[in-house]
Amino acid sequence: MARPERIVVLGGGPAGITAGWRLAEQGICATVIERDAVVGGMAQTIRRGPYAVDYGPHTFHVRQTEESRRIIETIRPFFGKDPLVLTRGTRVLLHGKYYVYPLELMQVLTGLNPLLSLRIMADYAVATIGSLINPPQREDSFEDWGVRNLGRTLYDLCFGIYSERVWGLPTSQISSKQAQRVAKLNLRDIVLRILGIKADPAAYFTEYMYPRAGISTLYENMAARMTEAGGQVLVGSAVTALERAGDRVTAVRYLRDGQTHRLECDGVVTTLPLPALVGMVEPALSPEVVAHAGRLRYRSMRLINVVLDRDRLTDFHWVYLSDRKFRCNRMSEQKNVSGDMVPDGKTVLCIELSCWKGDELWNASDEEIFAIAMRDLEATGLGVTRAEVSDYWIVPLATAYPVYELGFEEHLGPVLDGVSLANVHTIGRHGLFLNNSMDDNVLLGVRVADAIAERGSDGRRWFEEMTAYADLKFQGK
Ligand SMILES: Cc1cc2nc3c(=O)[nH]c(=O)nc-3n(C[C@H](O)[C@H](O)[C@H](O)COP(=O)(O)OP(=O)(O)OC[C@H]3O[C@@H](n4cnc5c(N)ncnc54)[C@H](O)[C@@H]3O)c2cc1C
Repeated sequence: MARPERIVVLGGGPAGITAGWRLAEQGICATVIERDAVVGGMAQTIRRGPYAVDYGPHTFHVRQTEESRRIIETIRPFFGKDPLVLTRGTRVLLHGKYYVYPLELMQVLTGLNPLLSLRIMADYAVATIGSLINPPQREDSFEDWGVRNLGRTLYDLCFGIYSERVWGLPTSQISSKQAQRVAKLNLRDIVLRILGIKADPAAYFTEYMYPRAGISTLYENMAARMTEAGGQVLVGSAVTALERAGDRVTAVRYLRDGQTHRLECDGVVTTLPLPALVGMVEPALSPEVVAHAGRLRYRSMRLINVVLDRDRLTDFHWVYLSDRKFRCNRMSEQKNVSGDMVPDGKTVLCIELSCWKGDELWNASDEEIFAIAMRDLEATGLGVTRAEVSDYWIVPLATAYPVYELGFEEHLGPVLDGVSLANVHTIGRHGLFLNNSMDDNVLLGVRVADAIAERGSDGRRWFEEMTAYADLKFQGK
């Protein structure tokens, strides 16, 4: 197939900007269209006065795989001067105590009340023997999967309560495919470690890389290099329509400064959320695809950034707030990731609160949301008081996580099939409906650009490759 001349990339987050840079680097005419005023997507760094803070913690995972090492070598210059190499410093707050994360089972068992520890071990033994005698016959819910692998008590304590809050659904209504994310959170590792078996190197990682001035440096540098190589990055430009002639997209329309613009193209790489993308195709895709797209949901978030008048609160990168009393999921301390981002004598916490777009929490005033975060902060036992808060700001994230409700695959399959037109390639967290991390999305950006450079636009082949890729991801690989 002929090498395409003009590729339009929709969205300038980690997946899109990587694809754009890599296409431009190979001499292909690439344009990234990004709605926000800056690139980086959810991996943006917000700069406010003397503070620089990411959208929650955003460290770049270094996995013990050949592919991970290769990709990091390729993008290393974009991390800027003297990047940080960090060792995972995360904790879980359980029953008032901070445990190292990923959880060390012995630490949990010895730290908890002895009766609870006995219950954990008894439940775990029952669950293990039960699944050996009676292995599961079919795909089941996240709850069934967790209880079968860990026993009821350990599952509820470490994952059940927390997951219900993050997802806003009982875990009996969440697919066991959600375990894809949990594997990354090393739940499986707990079991493997109990058995004395080494964990999968793709899931087990303890190292991060991080640019000193904030994660967005990585993507800003990529965008700059893309422009140098002849590509174009259009920020402040919201894609509104994809013009289709048969099974090909021939042009993309976008809104910039109140004006509609039109860009003709030979191929499209999209990172947009699937329901939004489906709604933009003209003439519309089949009513079945449109109906299935309406069944895919994303969980939203409000990120509460709190400035404290003290040099540091903890020495953790982030802490999961697992106990039932909390309403927020996680708290991170930016300064512990990079000391260059917050001045001496101050520290900034980012507290994550899950919600559905349009629900009570999404619509609540900043004051109400701040009050919820403060109550949780006070409940951490770290001694934070309202008097030492000198500033706060709240960031909304409409599409934070794809939600794997039971049976979501029946909708996802037809949507991915429907949008994968002959010259449309979908990638990224929202574009594939995959709860994957930045390194996965950078890798996908490189892969799609290399595929287009090598064989031209081929959305159908890309769809098949991504179906196989997603299957592996759902197995935690
Ligand atoms: C709280 C939180 C913490 C996280 N922490 C980590 C971490 O520590 N490490 C890690 O590796 N990953 C982390 N992640 C995941 C990481 O953010 C994602 O993997 C990554 O940002 C996904 O990249 P993407 O390009 O696929 O999507 P996005 O980052 O969402 O980028 C999509 C882009 O498309 C743009 N867009 C949407 N609609 C339009 C439109 N109509 N027109 C034009 N542009 C549009 C958006 O503005 C956005 O810039 C975290 C995620 C969250 C929510």
